[in-house]
Amino acid sequence: MQSFPGRPTTPVAPEVVIVGGGSIGCSIAYQLALDGVRSLILERDYLAAGASGVAAGMLAPQVEAPFDDPFFDLTLAGRKSHGPLAAALYEDVGLDVECRATGILRVALDEADRVELQRRQRWQTARGLRADWLESEQLGECEPLLNGVAGRLLAGGLWLPDEGQVRSPRLVQALAAASVKRGAMVVEGSWAVGFERRGDRISGVRTPQGIVSAETVVLAAGVWSTDLAQTIGLDLPVGPVKGQILTLRAIQQTPRTVIWSGECYLVPRVDGQVILGATEEDGNYDRRPTLAGIGSLSEAALEFLPAVGQFTIEGIWAGLRPAAPDRYPIVGRAPGFENLILATAHYRNGILLGPLTGRWISQLIRSGVVAPEFAPFGPERFISSGH
Ligand SMILES: Cc1cc2nc3c(=O)[nH]c(=O)nc-3n(C[C@H](O)[C@H](O)[C@H](O)COP(=O)(O)OP(=O)(O)OC[C@H]3O[C@@H](n4cnc5c(N)ncnc54)[C@H](O)[C@@H]3O)c2cc1C
Repeated sequence: MQSFPGRPTTPVAPEVVIVGGGSIGCSIAYQLALDGVRSLILERDYLAAGASGVAAGMLAPQVEAPFDDPFFDLTLAGRKSHGPLAAALYEDVGLDVECRATGILRVALDEADRVELQRRQRWQTARGLRADWLESEQLGECEPLLNGVAGRLLAGGLWLPDEGQVRSPRLVQALAAASVKRGAMVVEGSWAVGFERRGDRISGVRTPQGIVSAETVVLAAGVWSTDLAQTIGLDLPVGPVKGQILTLRAIQQTPRTVIWSGECYLVPRVDGQVILGATEEDGNYDRRPTLAGIGSLSEAALEFLPAVGQFTIEGIWAGLRPAAPDRYPIVGRAPGFENLILATAHYRNGILLGPLTGRWISQLIRSGVVAPEFAPFGPERFISSGH
């Protein structure tokens, strides 16, 4: 087993074992650490080895929401949680997770797009959110790359100034480091292969190196949670929606804001990198990028922003978004088990919702109280207690 740097030399037995060192597992460990609960993360590969290491890191509830519902409320609260978290992590472990409200410009490619985006603008402004409609000739004022012909060929755009972004892999590292500083343990290269079960309790997690005992176990292994749940007869309906992205660099002009066309998005980073994402490939477990995936993204970007053709390629990545059939998270106590918590299926929003999920799971573990805002997203909507 490999220890995370900073691991206490005389570890005390953890109260909670978390399977999976992605955004969700590390957010839970962090909140538990703040609340004085000792946890241990078992990570098969390395921290952020899954979807969390690939994610574009957008904090984008408004651009993602077709209508107003409880999930939208949750994602807005998620966006709000990131600024204070980033400041606390910087103070704590000195890592800048680059949390910034860069805004998102959602451009309309055609008339149908324009009608739909203006409909969204109406209900979002009616809710008191900032969402401004820009005609095509105004797009360049918001994003200089859309000055001139590039902007005029579009059917306008929705400017969402409060949307933001973080650097996802660094966020995971910072959460883990801050957790370890408060006594949590992280073991990378340790594969959970199953559970020790006594009636309706899980007494430990089985790894090739031995059994790790715990009072509570949290399954936060992203899309791979399904296989582990299966070992104890839980049919967790979580599958992959593969996403491919490219890391680019502009030779001349870098986008000022996030530009999203519906077919693809461009996310400018602090260091001048630009993320071009992302494909949506339902049911695909193969984590390797493909020419077709990268080709479709390039085509989608070049269609509305020819300047991207001069950007150079620095990296090509793919990750598996864990998704439930209804595309909402599955967060809560596993039906039929007293001390097993499920925290997965965050689909396109696992970075955005990590901090809230962490808070809620910690509360559930400490007091048994189900936070009302998470109540609609419990596992019982798919799994009965008599499974
Ligand atoms: C291309 C792309 C772009 C995205 N963009 C955004 C975005 O802009 N904003 C946003 O909010 N979300 C985004 N997402 C979604 C987000 O990445 C996911 O929702 C989130 O990362 C899920 O986190 P997780 O911790 O549940 O899973 P993961 O990050 O996949 O972590 C699961 C971890 O469990 C480990 N593991 C698996 N099996 C075992 C085992 N048996 N034992 C121990 N460890 C195990 C894995 O190695 C992995 O590290 C994007 C995803 C992709 C692919």
